[in-house]
Amino acid sequence: MNYRHAFHAGNHADVLKHVVLLALCDALTAKPAACFALDTHAGRGLYRLDGESAQKTGEASDGIGRLLAEAPRNPPIQRYLAAIKACRQQHGAHAYPGSPWLLAHALRAQDRISACELLPEEANVLRDTFAGDPRVAVHARDGYAAVKALLPPRHGTVKFARGLVLVDPPYEAQLDEFDTALAAIRDVLARWPQAMLALWYPIKQRRALRQFYRKAAGLDARSTLLLELLVRPDDSPLRMNGSGMLLLNAPWQFDVAMRPALDGLCAALGEAGGSARVEWLRLPA
Ligand code: SAM
Repeated sequence: MNYRHAFHAGNHADVLKHVVLLALCDALTAKPAACFALDTHAGRGLYRLDGESAQKTGEASDGIGRLLAEAPRNPPIQRYLAAIKACRQQHGAHAYPGSPWLLAHALRAQDRISACELLPEEANVLRDTFAGDPRVAVHARDGYAAVKALLPPRHGTVKFARGLVLVDPPYEAQLDEFDTALAAIRDVLARWPQAMLALWYPIKQRRALRQFYRKAAGLDARSTLLLELLVRPDDSPLRMNGSGMLLLNAPWQFDVAMRPALDGLCAALGEAGGSARVEWLRLPA
């Protein structure tokens, strides 16, 4: 298998993102109709956690390592741990799945996945990983621009009514990336209003995100929900103290299902002063 270690893979932020992603997939596949998933910033799909830099930062041992050791008895967390186990059975004891792998794992034969990755080298690895899976299309391109090209999704003459879009940017542009991501989300909602959307974002200090929350609350969606995990108090602007998922058009009662999951993640991964938050910016109509 062609995959390599990555220092960020498996940290607390990855764990939150992937627990939520799988729960969204399970809500989609609860109905028989085919669905479509777009992963705008896909990465390489598979990582390994035994590389030198993964060991050095210890981020994965504080994230997925601790969760595996503690294995909270909460259904969305157990579901995620089962996916990790399935990935390791296929790819080895140190394998760690990225979002496209989890989408391919959770979705069904009738579903379709488009995964965009800007870096050609990463996109090539992604293509190799899914070479035998006709459900997955890999696009070596800008995931924001791809929204206009790929949505609303069709497969031949079939239009997909149901599906999800994951927006998981690297935030290299710091706060500007929030505006770029929100602009892409507006494009998604205009083209495919019934889609579920998930935007991952890092949290250094929550108060620096006030404008983002205000703009997110104004998005034209049926509902807007925040799920956040702070693994320590957000009193330092210098490090990532937690992260969040902004969900548009979340499944019915998703807040009720996810609250205990976030509490379980906080208990397993949080330091003193850590906290979990489930908050509606816009209640379902
Ligand atoms: N979603 C992945 C997961 O959960 O496993 C992780 C993605 S990683 C945080 C962000 C990825 O986005 C990197 O692989 C980076 O090369 C890629 N990237 C950066 N800018 C991009 C863009 N405009 N369009 C598509 N991919 C981009």
